[in-house]
Amino acid sequence: MPATANPVERAWTSNERTAYSVAIVGGGFGGVMTAIHLLRVLPAASEIVLFERAGRLGRGTAYGTELPCHLLNVPATRMSAFPDAPADFAEWLSRSRMESSCAATDAGLFAPRAVYGDYIESLARTALRSGRLTVIPAAVTDLWPEQTGFRLAAANGRTVRAGQVVLALGNLSPGEGSAPAHVTDPWSSAALAPLDDASNRPVVIVGTGLSMVDLVLGLRARGFPGRIVAISRRGLLPQFHRPGAPWPTPDFTATERHSMLALFRRIRAEIAAAAAAEVDWRGVIDGVRPAVQSLWQGLSAVERRRFLRHLRPWWDIHRHRMPMPAAAALAAMREEGTLEVHAGSVLSVEPMAAGACVTWRPRGASLPTRLDAARVIVATGTPNAAALANPLLDALRGRGLARLDPLGLGLDVNERLAVIDAAGRANPTIHALGPIVRGVLWECTAVPELRAQAAAIADRIAEALQPAGA
Ligand SMILES: Cc1cc2nc3c(=O)[nH]c(=O)nc-3n(C[C@H](O)[C@H](O)[C@H](O)COP(=O)(O)OP(=O)(O)OC[C@H]3O[C@@H](n4cnc5c(N)ncnc54)[C@H](O)[C@@H]3O)c2cc1C
Repeated sequence: MPATANPVERAWTSNERTAYSVAIVGGGFGGVMTAIHLLRVLPAASEIVLFERAGRLGRGTAYGTELPCHLLNVPATRMSAFPDAPADFAEWLSRSRMESSCAATDAGLFAPRAVYGDYIESLARTALRSGRLTVIPAAVTDLWPEQTGFRLAAANGRTVRAGQVVLALGNLSPGEGSAPAHVTDPWSSAALAPLDDASNRPVVIVGTGLSMVDLVLGLRARGFPGRIVAISRRGLLPQFHRPGAPWPTPDFTATERHSMLALFRRIRAEIAAAAAAEVDWRGVIDGVRPAVQSLWQGLSAVERRRFLRHLRPWWDIHRHRMPMPAAAALAAMREEGTLEVHAGSVLSVEPMAAGACVTWRPRGASLPTRLDAARVIVATGTPNAAALANPLLDALRGRGLARLDPLGLGLDVNERLAVIDAAGRANPTIHALGPIVRGVLWECTAVPELRAQAAAIADRIAEALQPAGA
């Protein structure tokens, strides 16, 4: 075994079992935390296998960055991995003497996401020491039912059996662009690769949300000094965090629960009431958040589509806020003219011998305009499952084991996160969590919701695996 072996490689060489109580697909935050809770609640004889296709555990897309400028977008005090130990991350930072790596702001300490990855990886290492968790460093590409449980097949040719399956796949990858200068995955290494471009052409980013913020800071950290042009339909930038008083979760009426318009009117009224009481709107948005899953589930598919089409950009910029240091850096770049943010529609991107040509129409203009870019990066948000090829999801759907939610954003699950099959039956032996179930829950992709999902799934699996009469 090489001396540098990470937890993934080390575990791979240490266990040759072929049957497990539970198989988890995906070793990012959701997968690792589900494994940790399972080790707590399952009988000591139960063994868990976790498949992770990337080189490291606990990182995923969010915490895989190495750049210190990529901060968590939530203060450290709200980022514990455990629902029942809210101070765990803050205490870990202090124990590990990592507080100095964080940005101190009025709204609290914002840790680099890489440091948060270290925290989750340290929890994974502790879990591996139990000897009951095996990690297989490979992508699961297929899964089918057997007489008891399932067989999972990985891209490296390995197959294992498991009684229960948990899908913790994270955000689906949008896939490769058509040319090196047209990057369609904002989290791929190609997005921030050094730019050897003496022509002074800008980098164009399609999208103006938190991914754009990451890209701008990342390009600067990697030494790109030139112009960056960010374009989105409305040109809205995320708001930033500011400390403030909390506001109670509103008691929404039945009408508000069924109509997106009525719901947003109520939220606006709450913001006005809060302002009159000198409470910042951020307190209201944070107060609404715990109700979002139940509100979303009360809305019809038509109302949910209405939200996606018209209201989502407004909700996103208030709900998904950036830390103050990021906001200040972007404001300074806009001031000096090296970052432009425009409202408009990108009509086409044509790769050229070097760079790419972007045709876009500014909002309100009748004629399109062209921009020669050194690189174009698409950062328009997580793609919908319906629009993507993913070997495992395609296999699950092809075998009738799963179906997409009515909006096609991800997998359909019931209120217990059991995956619903093609015939509409919830299967209590396959669970899913995280971004892949956002069509059903909407507010389910960030740590506060995910940590609760991981604990709940582990409890349900423990219940199901309890011997009869126990
Ligand atoms: C850039 C970014 C920044 C974020 N910042 C924050 C933040 O500051 N605070 C916050 O609360 N939330 C944040 N989030 C939300 C984030 O989604 C969650 O915090 C969390 O990381 C999601 O965990 P996950 O396990 O669902 O997905 P991930 O952590 O992405 O993990 C999924 C894992 O599954 C693996 N995988 C996928 N398919 C397979 C397969 N077939 N076989 C094997 N392995 C597979 C992937 O390699 C990946 O490692 C951020 C998200 C992004 C994208």
